[in-house]
Amino acid sequence: MTAQQTPNAHYPKLFEPLEIGGMTLDNRVVMGSMHTGLEDRLWDTPKLAAYYAERARGGVGLIITGGFAPSRTGQLLPFAGKMTNRADVLRHREFTKAVHAEGGKIALQIIHAGRYGYTPLKVAAGSEPSPIHPFKHLKMTEQIIRHVIRSFGSAAKLARAAGYDAVELMGGEGYLINQFLCPHTNDRTDQWGGSTDNRQRFLLEIVKDVRNKVPRDYPVILRQSVADFVKNGQTFDEIALLAQRCEELGVDAINTDIGWHEAQVPTIVTSVPRGAFVKFTERLRDVVDIPLIASNRINTPEFAEEILGRGRVDAVSMARPLLADPDFVNKARDGRSDEINTCIGCNQACLDHAFVGKKVSCLLNPRAGRETVLTLGATRTAKRVAVVGAGPAGLSAAVSAAQRGHRVDLFESGDTIGGQFSIAARIPGKEEFNETIRYYTRQLEINHVSVRLGTRASAQDLIDGGYDQVVIATGVVPRVPDIDGIDHPMVMSYADAVLGHREIGKRVAVIGAGGIGFDVTEFLTVDESPTLNLKEWEQEWGVTDDLDTPGFLTKPRPLPATREVYLVQRKTGRQGKSLGKTTGWVHRATVKMKGVEQISGATYDKIDDAGLHITLHDKEGAAVGTRTLEVDNVVVCAGQESVRDLVDPLTEAGVVTHVIGGADLASELDAKRAIRQGTEVAAGLP
Ligand code: NAP
Ligand code: SF4
Repeated sequence: MTAQQTPNAHYPKLFEPLEIGGMTLDNRVVMGSMHTGLEDRLWDTPKLAAYYAERARGGVGLIITGGFAPSRTGQLLPFAGKMTNRADVLRHREFTKAVHAEGGKIALQIIHAGRYGYTPLKVAAGSEPSPIHPFKHLKMTEQIIRHVIRSFGSAAKLARAAGYDAVELMGGEGYLINQFLCPHTNDRTDQWGGSTDNRQRFLLEIVKDVRNKVPRDYPVILRQSVADFVKNGQTFDEIALLAQRCEELGVDAINTDIGWHEAQVPTIVTSVPRGAFVKFTERLRDVVDIPLIASNRINTPEFAEEILGRGRVDAVSMARPLLADPDFVNKARDGRSDEINTCIGCNQACLDHAFVGKKVSCLLNPRAGRETVLTLGATRTAKRVAVVGAGPAGLSAAVSAAQRGHRVDLFESGDTIGGQFSIAARIPGKEEFNETIRYYTRQLEINHVSVRLGTRASAQDLIDGGYDQVVIATGVVPRVPDIDGIDHPMVMSYADAVLGHREIGKRVAVIGAGGIGFDVTEFLTVDESPTLNLKEWEQEWGVTDDLDTPGFLTKPRPLPATREVYLVQRKTGRQGKSLGKTTGWVHRATVKMKGVEQISGATYDKIDDAGLHITLHDKEGAAVGTRTLEVDNVVVCAGQESVRDLVDPLTEAGVVTHVIGGADLASELDAKRAIRQGTEVAAGLP
């Protein structure tokens, strides 16, 4: 900080400038690299430029692009984004110009996917096939290795020509450089494999080549894996040695990276305790002097400030939090952190999309990646709008409409806002959902939405109210399946179970193994929604602090379940298939580690004092036996039904109505769709 600058009153550490090579960042928030799906096609260039520009305008210190390949063999997908020639430079200038016009800074991430490429052209360090993509790869020859090394240097030179303020070399997450570094994937017996020196040679040669091709003051950042979480991953000594060697060769900062894509330790989902991996970054403080950037599950300015205050890392990387709220940094700077739309780590619209080749957005912020098409400009003709229901759909409609200048009344029959999010927030590991409720509470306030809690608006009330438009976001009610004995006192809905309305016994059967069935099962296997405890979490997932253990993996030791739980569904086959691409495996593993008995292919015969009586079926649907699950309670998680009773009377009365969220479609109850529909309805108002 220069003598003239006064520290930020709210987050003094976060808003200290930071020097990386010849570049000075205005603050210590780095937007981490995240592939949006807009990198790959020429026609998406304006959209990606607008996406970056909005985040630069939001005040972030440095934006790091999604990964761009230095050669065709390194592309993430066929025809994926790259930086290999002058035509690429011209395209990339659109990004750098857009960011610089907003006063921001942007670095190009250069990535070679190696065996993680979803392309038939891929090459990799060793013979081990990729567990996440089907294509076979070619084990790199000496000639290919030399070519790829040179391609990194060339890409860096082109990045500078395109106006990038820096480059980042992707050395983590199990991509090519990381594949060379670990015996897990490097089975070579030549000078590029075997000893630590040999395995590190590839990256060190890349750094030398990059340094030879860009001036000494041009910032080069290394994304370095500080915990691989795979068998035969690197030890701490190897990681420390590599960091030192890279510093000596002219790397200007280390942006730390956690876990390979194939790791069986969750690293980013919401149930990972905040900042769980910062200590892996902090350890490098004793071995290098260049700036260290911590990442993963850092999503609030308070927490970022706390990490920086410990004095062992110099900046924090946030990718998803800036998808959720592009104004994160400006709001923090102005002391308006209660207005931040905090990323809840759900992955539903970002990584789940990325891994199935869909464009990335954000469940909480449907404008992310759609900045040019979904706009919320001020209205010139303010209307009176009623929104009925204060769940995610209604909240997003009410706030977005009010932000545009409409006069909004929000009716909610319950005592609180949040709807299904209030239930989700009680699930162990989903405490972050409370942040969304806090965000909306504040937004309703500052946008002057008139909130009528405890008010069940009737059709007549709405007609008499003379509203110009009515948004029906009345949500859902839990489905009550037609089972003999469903009204037995031992039976309860998932809402009653999770909200603590009823006492729950020690043996429980859960009917329905969808998203909520899994959530409720996890809820039932712990005493109560716990404050996230890092030590216990590490123990459950087999993460060790031991510096000599390769990959920092040890045997998982799950805490015992507090209840005996049966999770039952009618479909045959594996449970949890409908869960999110990047989160489903965590839920499936959690339920398994808690010893839950999962029963598929069941039909429900009756519920009585003895418990839940079921008939079991094989894959062809033939009955193969009966069973009585001797339980104290049955919790029903059998989906939902829409609440739409206002729709017909209002439509018949000629009121302009919009039906959104669960009220629109209960069979695919989905917060992502609900919030998107709410925003779109508001955007579509006059
Ligand atoms: P869901 O995913 O549709 O699951 C409902 C379950 O109830 C199904 O497994 C279904 O399985 C069973 N079922 C349906 N009708 C039934 C009936 N008449 N009798 C008995 N069983 C019946 O719905 P949800 O669990 O309520 O979740 C709602 C939405 O929220 C979903 O879109 C879900 O993806 C999302 N969500 C996701 C997560 C997550 O990913 N972790 C968490 C919470 C919610 P059978 O027909 O095989 O019995
Ligand atoms: Fe965060 Fe979920 Fe949005 Fe992804 S979709 S940025 S995880 S809130």
